[in-house]
Amino acid sequence: MDTQTRDLLIRLLDAPGPSGHEGAATAIWRAAAEGFADRTWADVHGNTFAEINPGATPTVMLAGHADEIGLMVHHIDDEGFLWVVGVGGWDPQVLVGQRVDVLTGQGVMAGVVGRRAVHLIREDDSAKAVKLKDLWIDIGAGSGAEAKTRVSIGDVAVIRSDTVNLGDDLLAARSIDNRVGAMVVLESLRRTAERGCKAHVVAVATVQEEIGYIAAGGARTGAFGLDPQVGIVVDVTHATDHPTIEKTEHGDIRLGRGPVLARGAAINRMVFTGLAAAARAEDIEVQIQAVPAMTGTDADAVRMSRAGVAVGLVSIPNRYMHTPNQLVSVTDVDQTADVIASYLSGLTESIDFTG
Ligand SMILES: [Zn+2]
Repeated sequence: MDTQTRDLLIRLLDAPGPSGHEGAATAIWRAAAEGFADRTWADVHGNTFAEINPGATPTVMLAGHADEIGLMVHHIDDEGFLWVVGVGGWDPQVLVGQRVDVLTGQGVMAGVVGRRAVHLIREDDSAKAVKLKDLWIDIGAGSGAEAKTRVSIGDVAVIRSDTVNLGDDLLAARSIDNRVGAMVVLESLRRTAERGCKAHVVAVATVQEEIGYIAAGGARTGAFGLDPQVGIVVDVTHATDHPTIEKTEHGDIRLGRGPVLARGAAINRMVFTGLAAAARAEDIEVQIQAVPAMTGTDADAVRMSRAGVAVGLVSIPNRYMHTPNQLVSVTDVDQTADVIASYLSGLTESIDFTG
């Protein structure tokens, strides 16, 4: 991956964007798309689109959700502490002791997640997993009245973190799920435009996936509006290459071993075989993941749009998903964009997805 692309990836990763508040991330994404796309636009939910070859057929939707998990302030107490609920699925253990950025009307404000010191935890509580309702955010306010001049109910927060390099190929960041997917659909579009392509391709940084259980996120309306014949969704999947994971239960997915192609009822066979053939043509190894029913990604929403869309799901291995330090391989990200661009550059108007 060249330096410019890597810098864009890191800027996207560091932008705060919990579900419903993706604007900082999608603004970076859209500005980058404007450098090569024929058109960019956004819809009422915040889904952000970039297209090449408008008017051509088939229409292909590339979807990568730009949101990440976060926290939302739902109570400010008389002492000035903020009590929060999750935006998306948290393991509350990972929040203990973290710094957070609260996104307020006056800008980003630092806070810390408070918990009793170890000396003060009752013996019978020390063995219990901490719950989100037992944690609070301390912004250093002297009173509830003071806190309320700075923070409002409904403000959201993310873990305060910067992307760091681990060795040559791995990145650790808070928002790997799924800012890397948003990045890959953008980069796939750019590389497809470079290679040349007969199809109408639209990359979409979708919103609200982390709260859109059972496919109620922004991809649903995004797909309806675009009416694509093909959808390729890019998300992260669990790497199982670390201690305490049983491969017999969770499969064998490794960082740095290439993009992961899903197979199963939700996945169109022609799209799967087309992506696998493109990977072979590029000499890129892929990993295969069995997904017998719903995928738990935007692919479920895109697939069920209108009269049905032929979807493929390409996942990027992610170690420690939904923690402040999720890991991803830059090579995996790079290769995923190459596989998708190679597939799209070979698409023709006559392709049939009913096989
Ligand atoms: Zn997620």
